[in-house]
This record gives sequence, structure tokens and C-alpha cells, in this order.
Amino acid sequence: MSVGSFQLNGGWIEVIAGVMFSGKSEELMRRVRRSMIARKRVQVFKSRLDDRYGGVMQVGSHDGRAIEATPVDSSEQIRLRLDPQAQVIAIDEAQFLDAGIIAIANDLADRGRRVIVAGTDIDFRGEPFGPMPQLMCVAEIVDKLHAICVMCGSPATRNQRLIDGKPAAYDSPIVMVGGAESYEARCRNCHKVLPASGDTQERLL
Ligand code: ADP
Ligand code: ZN
Repeated sequence: MSVGSFQLNGGWIEVIAGVMFSGKSEELMRRVRRSMIARKRVQVFKSRLDDRYGGVMQVGSHDGRAIEATPVDSSEQIRLRLDPQAQVIAIDEAQFLDAGIIAIANDLADRGRRVIVAGTDIDFRGEPFGPMPQLMCVAEIVDKLHAICVMCGSPATRNQRLIDGKPAAYDSPIVMVGGAESYEARCRNCHKVLPASGDTQERLL
């Protein structure tokens, strides 16, 4: 693969980062499909925590297209289920995985594999999410995608978490699967996090 005048030989890591609805899964699937057209052996993993779009076995995107993926709960499961012949390894929803994913991605790239990692880089507070910051540092290529802010139409760089329709508090749990919560893509300006229910002042300063 070449990026500008930069020619990549051997293995490498590429990260597709961005907020929800920014098109990470679409972009991951596009790269996976093109690798398949190039007759590469491809293996796709996806964190089991995210089963929003019909079935844990697929990398679903908001446009309804899907590619089969192996669901995993931890980075160790990726190591155990790796196809030794795979030339391209794609991992979606990597923000939910543990820090072990950084060593696995590095090992694979060191062993000549193309590693494609997609994930939400910041949590609902606007802070770095799970292993994403480290993955972005060790990657050869990083693409940061933007959604559209549902409030003002600007590029969205934040995930607005709503609980019962209201902005969530800073100290609400980072991962809350199910329940009366929802997310919206918003820009920095329109993004709101309510103060923590205990120590309001300290966090605001
Ligand atoms: P991600 O994996 O980043 O959550 P997807 O690839 O699943 O994103 O979905 C991206 C698609 O979501 C877009 O192509 C668009 O059709 C749709 N979409 C819905 N809401 C928005 C929004 N606020 N901004 C941009 N795209 C949106
Ligand atoms: Zn906005």
C-alpha cells in the first residue's frame, strides 16, 4: 500500500477512528471487500459488546450491508481464534477491547500482516476511549472520520450520550448496554456533559 510517496512494505497497522455514525464500519468493510477482491485471506473480528445492528456475527453498518465477523469478548480471544494464514486482520469496535489488543496488533504487523482497526476514539465525555489512543500512536496510518452534528450541521467529533432524553452526567458508566440511553453525533460546541453527581465543582474547573 502506498500513502502519498510513503511505500509500506511488510506489515502495518491502520486505524479508522471517529465518533459513532462517522462511517467507520462502512470504511472498514470497504477495505475488507477490496482486500478480498485482491484475493487476500481476510479475517474480521468484532467486540461482542456491540450488537446494535442485527446479530453478533456481522460487522453491520448503518447502510445495512454486512460482512461476517468473529465475535470476541477480549483481545486474548482474538489471539486464540487467529487464522495463521490470514494476511489481513480487521477488528471493529476496538474501543471495547482490553489493552492486550495493542500488543496483538503490533505482533501481527511485525509478522507481515495488514491490521485494520476501527473504533470510537473518545467516550461520551470527550475523553480517550480504551486502547484507541495507543493504537493510534503505534499505527502507520490513522484516519479520523467525522459524522454530522445533529444540532447544527457542523462536522461532529463527539458522542452525545442521552439518558431519558437528557445529557448524561460525567460519572454515568462508560459502557451501559441496553437501557433508556441513546447517542447522537454532535460537534464540540453542541456537546454537553452534566457535572458528576457528587463533586460538581471540581470536575467543572
Ligand atoms: P460508525 O461505524 O462510525 O458508527 P457506520 O459506518 O455504521 O458508522 O454508519 C455511517 C452511516 O450512518 C452514514 O453513512 C450515514 O448514512 C448514517 N448516519 C446516521 N446519522 C448520521 C450523522 N449524524 N452523521 C453522519 N452519518 C450519519
Ligand atoms: Zn453542533
